[in-house]
Amino acid sequence: MPNYRRILAAIDLSDEADAVLERAAGMATQHGAELHLLHVVEPLSLAYGGDIPMDFSEVQQQLQQQAETALDKYAQRLNIAKKQCHLLTGRPDAQIHELCKNLGADLIIVGSHGRKGLALLLGSTANGVLHGAECDVLAVRVGRQD
Ligand code: AMP
Repeated sequence: MPNYRRILAAIDLSDEADAVLERAAGMATQHGAELHLLHVVEPLSLAYGGDIPMDFSEVQQQLQQQAETALDKYAQRLNIAKKQCHLLTGRPDAQIHELCKNLGADLIIVGSHGRKGLALLLGSTANGVLHGAECDVLAVRVGRQD
């Protein structure tokens, strides 16, 4: 099996991101791969846009800044160069696919809650990433398993 050369780890900045990053860092070392980090800030207008007539731009900017600070901390801890850290806006699964293609990454690493039943039918980011991915995807089990 050929080594992975460029790994993209997508993190949601929750406590569970540590498990994803730990696995990603281990895989990158094992394969001698370049490790890229990605966090996607979801536009508030996507969630509330049509329903609440409000200007979200200031809150959105704050979210963006908080995310940038958090991403920097993770990168420093793992010694990942700034040019390998990506902060994008949009739908997480779509942005993960897009960046993966742009980088030519050959492995995506995400967290997965191993959901069942209705939650599985409704989908999750890990499901969204898996469907339509053009490279391997590793779903790291995080959080509750039920
Ligand atoms: P979820 O389906 O939202 O529980 O998220 C599962 C996994 O998808 C997370 O552990 C991350 O790897 C990835 N993910 C979710 N949301 C984001 C986000 N906003 N930016 C980057 N990755 C994300």
